[in-house]
Amino acid sequence: MSEVQSSKFQPQSPVISIVIPLYREEKNVVPLVDRIGQVMAPLGYLWEIVFALDPSPDRTREVIMDLIAQGNPIRLLTFSRRIGKPLSLIAGLDHAVGDACVIIDADLQDPPELIGEMIQKWKQGYQVVLAQRTSRKGENFLYLKAAQAFYRILEKISEVPVPRDTGDYRLLDARVVKELSTFRERHGFLRGLTAAVGFKTTVIPYEREPRYSGKTQISFAGAFDIALDGIVPFSRVPVRLLLFTGASLAVIAMVLALLWIILGVLTGFSDKWPFVALGLLITELSGIVLTGMGILGEYLVRSYEETRDRPLYIIDTLEESAGLPRKGPD
Ligand code: UDP
Ligand code: MG
Repeated sequence: MSEVQSSKFQPQSPVISIVIPLYREEKNVVPLVDRIGQVMAPLGYLWEIVFALDPSPDRTREVIMDLIAQGNPIRLLTFSRRIGKPLSLIAGLDHAVGDACVIIDADLQDPPELIGEMIQKWKQGYQVVLAQRTSRKGENFLYLKAAQAFYRILEKISEVPVPRDTGDYRLLDARVVKELSTFRERHGFLRGLTAAVGFKTTVIPYEREPRYSGKTQISFAGAFDIALDGIVPFSRVPVRLLLFTGASLAVIAMVLALLWIILGVLTGFSDKWPFVALGLLITELSGIVLTGMGILGEYLVRSYEETRDRPLYIIDTLEESAGLPRKGPD
């Protein structure tokens, strides 16, 4: 692979960066780099892999260091602590020098063979090429249903359209990456952010494979977090819904109370049912109040975190194999 790097080097040749977040992927790294190499070598581009590594208890780092020593075009960022996939991706993009950046998972669920097709679309002038899953293998049924529902909801209520069933597997033109880097949001829901940045976008379908090795490190709760991050900063619908439901219920409750009073005055109050009515009303109202507090809380927490203005990530070390392409002046 290193020969491809040097022999085909021309100053004008576009550079392709492949950005890969990873955590505990020791068994996947070698086949991954292998398959990416097989895809990239015949294309004749200058290319690099940017590994964004959450410090892992397994041998992922050692395996990558070996690959670097063998002359593979790899840049390895290791974070000072586990920051999770969304922020790792942002860091990876910050350090990629490519004219186009491909984002791909390390577990081979996203087949690297698609990269060639993505680059083709990019050459045709698309600045964002999204890989859209037509099927997902080897994933939990409940998880799939939840993911499906999430994408349907997101499509309906997001202020910027996010094509359904597109994950993070995508190609971004350098211009898009540059604009993305101005969105310093801690809750970096890349799909929403990319949609917010815009530019010429296309979608290519693919079948999502099962993991090559290991098991997912993103729990259901973690996925729910990501889903919420996808909805809250990109939609006012939850708050609107709350307002609408709350207001309607309040009006209905007022009308019912009036009717009850009129009925009571006309026919006399029985001694039990007002208590039941009151109980229901209290339950209903506290339900509304609590949901409202929850949703408003989501916004509050986020604005609080944004105003704290901490760095998004801290890089501990930065390793690079010899002869990597360098970022030129803008
Ligand atoms: N990942 C990461 N940090 C984490 C968890 C996951 O960088 O804390 C990486 C992981 O190595 C993989 C990608 O994010 O390359 C997707 O993770 P995973 O396969 O566990 O999630 P799923 O495919 O189930 O969404
Ligand atoms: Mg996976």
